[in-house]
Amino acid sequence: MISQRRHRAVVLGIDALLVVMGVLGAYRVAVRAGVPAYLSVDRGRVYVRDLEAGIPYTPLLQGDTIRAINGQEVSSLQGMEFLTDHFQIGDTVALDVERAGQAMTLSVTLGRYYGLRYLLIQCLVGGLYFFLGVLAFVKRPGDKAALVFHWLSVAVGVMIMSTWASYAILPRGLGSASQVLDLLANAAIPVLLVHFSCVFPREKPRGERFIPALYLIAGGFFLWMTIAFLRALAPPSSADFQRFLQAFNTFRWFFSLSILVGVVNLLHSFFTSREGEERRKLRWVILGMGVGPLCFVVLWVIPYIVLARSLVDPDIIVLISAIAPATFAISIIRYHIMDIDLIFNRGTVYTVLLGVLLTIYALVVGTAAILAGTLTVRASLIASGVAATVVALLFEPTRRFVQNVVDRTFFRVRYDYRIVQRRITDDIMQCADVQQLADLIVRRTDEILQLERIGFFRIEEPGGRIILLAHRNGGLFGAPGVSESVTRLHPGARLPLALEYKVEAGAVFEAADPELFRELGLALVLALCSEGMQTLGLLVLGLKRSGTRFSIEDLDLLNSVATQAGLAMDRITLQEKLVMERAETQRLEELNRLKSYFVSSVSHELKTPLTSIKMFAELLRSKKKPGARQSQEYLEIIEGESERLSMLIENVLDFAQVERGVKEYHLTDVSLKELVEKVLRSMRYQFRMQGFRVEMEISPEDHLIHADPAAVIEALTNLLSNAMKYSRDKKAVRIATFDRDGFAAVAVEDKGIGISEKELSHIFDAFYRTQEGGAQRSAGAGLGLALVRHVMDAHGGKVEVRSEPGRGSTFTLLFPMEGG
Ligand code: ADP
Repeated sequence: MISQRRHRAVVLGIDALLVVMGVLGAYRVAVRAGVPAYLSVDRGRVYVRDLEAGIPYTPLLQGDTIRAINGQEVSSLQGMEFLTDHFQIGDTVALDVERAGQAMTLSVTLGRYYGLRYLLIQCLVGGLYFFLGVLAFVKRPGDKAALVFHWLSVAVGVMIMSTWASYAILPRGLGSASQVLDLLANAAIPVLLVHFSCVFPREKPRGERFIPALYLIAGGFFLWMTIAFLRALAPPSSADFQRFLQAFNTFRWFFSLSILVGVVNLLHSFFTSREGEERRKLRWVILGMGVGPLCFVVLWVIPYIVLARSLVDPDIIVLISAIAPATFAISIIRYHIMDIDLIFNRGTVYTVLLGVLLTIYALVVGTAAILAGTLTVRASLIASGVAATVVALLFEPTRRFVQNVVDRTFFRVRYDYRIVQRRITDDIMQCADVQQLADLIVRRTDEILQLERIGFFRIEEPGGRIILLAHRNGGLFGAPGVSESVTRLHPGARLPLALEYKVEAGAVFEAADPELFRELGLALVLALCSEGMQTLGLLVLGLKRSGTRFSIEDLDLLNSVATQAGLAMDRITLQEKLVMERAETQRLEELNRLKSYFVSSVSHELKTPLTSIKMFAELLRSKKKPGARQSQEYLEIIEGESERLSMLIENVLDFAQVERGVKEYHLTDVSLKELVEKVLRSMRYQFRMQGFRVEMEISPEDHLIHADPAAVIEALTNLLSNAMKYSRDKKAVRIATFDRDGFAAVAVEDKGIGISEKELSHIFDAFYRTQEGGAQRSAGAGLGLALVRHVMDAHGGKVEVRSEPGRGSTFTLLFPMEGG
């Protein structure tokens, strides 16, 4: 902490020194002396291109070639400036001039080199760079990108503020010290730019490896240029200055190339950026970096290397280079670049608000003063009272208006987030169950924040069991043991739990246990709470895929989503409870109804065969003994009725098992044909008794099915006994086996009363008996077909029915064939 504070103090101290040197540079610019004429250079010949307007007298004429100053030869503009820089405005120098082939020496009084406009622009732009650099550093202490940006910005500030001028200003050596500093800034800028492009918007470790080497090269250039420059100064020597220029021109290549590399690297970050937000931020930075330094290189540095002069005036180039900090400032304000939430926060809103209200106050009081002519104590009291009331009334609407304008203009992001927030809230309201809610929140949150992983846990009420309902890339969360770890997270009901360094400074959160978070791959955990502040679930988030931190807006949004989700879970649980209660009541009612129906119908069904058994048994025992043939007939009736009775009881018992879910089937490989024959054998007596003609159409192929023989026999018996029960005059039953679409089929067809289309869909329901067609006349409990369907379901088969009222019905059982 102490070392961090010291580091900050040292950096700010250096900044202060550099600002002083910058001011000194500006002073040098202000007092720089020059020949009062526009000069140009053409293949080593320095000549007068134009004469400055407003200068009362100068012996120079347009077209004059300047050969030497005070005896020192000149062959470049910079060389000539180097010599005049040792004089002050108002000094007189001797110029060796060639005019129309004639050599002459003219005595010329030096004038002001730079105009006031340049001085102003230079101070403004330079100051802007200084300000931005210091701001980035102060707002983001400890952030590498911010630190590099700081030095880059300050170095550009120094470069803009100082100039190659007035080396000889007093006290002695100050001019040259300022110039050496300028060289240092020049040497550092290109490397700082490359460095910056390697750490912003995210670190690029591969590129960073080359940075120390680049700094070394820049250091070498700096030393070379400084030595050459100091040599040229003492004593001032044009020849030595030419040597310095050579060094500087070589350095210019390095400068241009590095800037190019930096810009290309930033472009690379832009094109490989996965996050829309990051791209938006970078667009501005790249515009700044592209237009600013690239223009400087193309319009100034390279022309100097090639043509020994620039393509544009210095004030234009300084203005162009102001684009970089300007675009940077825009990025900072609009997109919180480097997470610097500049002045345009609440503070801005209230400052603007205060301004507006004060103006209103002043207007009211001022108008009162004008109206009253002169303000007496009483009048002024009344006026200020009225004004204060007006201001108080206008406070809230004005605040809202200003907040809106600031949001719309500068916080596009936050504004969009509000829309997003509203949409999510709407969607959450539509959720009918917790699963749907979990899916929605996971999907939408991931869409907006682009996370490495996200999970939605529900905490079950009594035991506090925690269940992962939905996730994206959160396979880890489902791993055994993880839910216990997750249970250990206890985010506050209001504050999210977050990894400290993954959240923008200024956001409100509770610091998480970094060990546990790293282990689970988490960055942020939010509690989903009920209205009574009971934790119903957890929303757990991994890092953002872009590697950027969670911004204050992100947290605002997440907090709102978590609150909404908690309330929605509350509501859904309540609704579910109500629905369940209602369903339970309905189930109980239905059960009661069925029970009484069942008791009445089954007891009736049991009674009918019992009555006939009893009756025929009594007849057999009666005094009037029947004959042998008749006895046989009575016994057969008793036998048949007993069979009916046992089938009914079997159906009831089976159905009870099905209902309780304990009905078991023992599957073996059996021949369908054999089963059919067995059933027909056992029912032969009944068919004969009731006068039925039975037609059999057994396929020659024997179909092997995997089935429970007893269950299949029961199903077939039910179908055949229905065929008998629901036939009237035409007593014919046909039974056929065949194969169809890989199924072994057995069909039971009768020419009975048939079933209407409307009732077909219900006959397989338990206790259902058709109302039409006179089926009620026949005995039955409505369980036979329900059992048939259950048997077929259990065998992976199906049952089909075709029927026409009055013409008969065909029931077909389809069993999946072995190996079919
Ligand atoms: P149950 O025969 O004991 O009433 P089922 O479940 O076997 O019960 O049959 C349900 C209903 O379907 C019957 O009550 C009857 O109305 C109708 N049904 C079943 N089989 C036939 C058929 N072969 N012909 C006409 N109707 C039938």
